Amino acid sequence: MSEAVESLNFIEHIVEEDLKNGYSEKDLRFRFPPEPNGYLHIGHASSICLNFGLGLRYNAPVNLRFDDTNPAKEEQEYVDAIKKDVEWLGFKWDTERYASDYFQQLYDWAIELIKQGKAYVDEQSSEDMAIQKGTPTQEGTNSPFRDRSVEENLAIFQEMKDGKFAEGTHVLRAKIDMASSNMLMRDPIMYRVLHKAHHRTNTDWCIYPMYDWTHGESDYIEQVSHSFCTLEFAMHRELYDWFLDQVTDTEKLRPKQREFARRNLSHTVVSKRKLLQLVENNVVTGWDDPRMSTISGLRRRGYTPESIRNFVETIGIAKRDNLIDVSLLEFHLRDHLNKISPRVMGVLDPVKVIITNYPEGEVEWLDTENNPEDESAGTRQIPFTREIYIEKEDFKEEANRKFFRLKLGGEVRLKSGYIIKAESCTKDTDGNITEIQCTYDPKSKSGSGTEESLRKVKGTLHWVSVAHALKAEVRLYDRLFTDESPDTHKDKDFMEFINPDSLKVITGYLEPSLSEAKSGDRFQFQRLGYFCVDPDSTNEKLVFNKTVGLRDTWAKLQNK
Ligand code: ATP
Ligand code: MG
Repeated sequence: MSEAVESLNFIEHIVEEDLKNGYSEKDLRFRFPPEPNGYLHIGHASSICLNFGLGLRYNAPVNLRFDDTNPAKEEQEYVDAIKKDVEWLGFKWDTERYASDYFQQLYDWAIELIKQGKAYVDEQSSEDMAIQKGTPTQEGTNSPFRDRSVEENLAIFQEMKDGKFAEGTHVLRAKIDMASSNMLMRDPIMYRVLHKAHHRTNTDWCIYPMYDWTHGESDYIEQVSHSFCTLEFAMHRELYDWFLDQVTDTEKLRPKQREFARRNLSHTVVSKRKLLQLVENNVVTGWDDPRMSTISGLRRRGYTPESIRNFVETIGIAKRDNLIDVSLLEFHLRDHLNKISPRVMGVLDPVKVIITNYPEGEVEWLDTENNPEDESAGTRQIPFTREIYIEKEDFKEEANRKFFRLKLGGEVRLKSGYIIKAESCTKDTDGNITEIQCTYDPKSKSGSGTEESLRKVKGTLHWVSVAHALKAEVRLYDRLFTDESPDTHKDKDFMEFINPDSLKVITGYLEPSLSEAKSGDRFQFQRLGYFCVDPDSTNEKLVFNKTVGLRDTWAKLQNK
């Protein structure tokens, strides 16, 4: 490992230090600990790549642990989605674990704490408890229930477990220090009453352990050596350690918590709670809407696992929170799609071109490369006929010399085909161009080897044969939020920044080879961008998502 030390991030340095100071590689064990209260998002990808990356680097096991202690918000659907996303990103967990697997052990330990006089049942209202807790600058005061006897605590805690009490009436608190400078140490709650069925333990329990009481002990049970979490838990570390002190057997490995910065992406939100709000308010069609920052949304949009991993690798692991521009993610996406995507032609805003000197009814199948970046991708045949579509914006009656597309009297090459010249055009009563009449140079066919075929003209246009064009629904996406950082405004809710034009649905006209395209297939529509087949697609009606354009037009617009 030492030869790569310079490129290690600070988390890897922590592990390296521990290895120098007595840990052996076989002591290393990591975990990724999502709460199944929503779908994973791009922020989670950082944590996944960090933990599973460490696993690969040190050949150490990595558990997938569901932190499922709040049945009010957690569901099996989310568990399934999380597993699918981690796998899709390309990682394998050692064992699948659930905090709920440890409910009995946690309960037994809680009883021990009560017996040692280190935990008590509090019956104050949550309001009273908040007041009694003090403020960061003012010490708290003891609860009137703090000095109950062990016997009384055991009895009431038993009643809590037996379902005798309503939610919010009783909690079990650790007896630590109401004067601690760390508010989290002022007798934190370990258990609350929740009369809710749990997706795994059903109605076995009506008291549920809190995050702090659960997380470190779960790490300990699993013998996780390093428990990496995000910075908002930095203050929790003291409590994590206090709880561990209560249960750790010196023979066993003691987990350590260390923190790294959350990753935020521009023009979106990365919080399950906020993403759930978008779903519940029908701002999007679901968790996997291609505009979402969820892994499932990115997948449906056409992202590859490689592009996400490369992005995460590039941004690295930081000690301070910051905002990453989404165009960096898109850069990695384009970079990968460019290497792997078959090239096809499709016209999204068509105008008809008639090639007047081409025989009516004739169809010529032109040989075309599938991917100039990848010879092994082979070739395919595309039909050329007298009537074709080109993009409206690729034709102007008159234009200056910098317009390298089609204009009256000018020539362009049709991609993989012939050189055509615009002779005249037809307009409707509003002045819109409805048809362009062209002639073609029969000797100019691409790849035919003739002198004319090598003739250079400035512009090359994509096109499709009208008779062969497949009609498809094409969904074009824009940023979901108009603001770079929608959830950081003090006076405005993030929902106020939703871009009303984030989805545009149009009809595209595509080359016939795409009739075979299947859900998830990715293509470059030449000159337009990268597109993929949406799961809504059927044999009767193809549906494509625009994944990303060929160039970063967004960054350019921002710099204007
Ligand atoms: P959310 O607010 O979206 O629910 P969370 O942190 O509550 O996020 P968890 O399911 O608890 O979500 O997260 C699992 C792991 O992923 C945790 O270790 C958490 O710190 C990490 N994580 C979550 N969001 C990010 C992020 N934006 N950047 C980096 N790591 C993250
Ligand atoms: Mg959470």
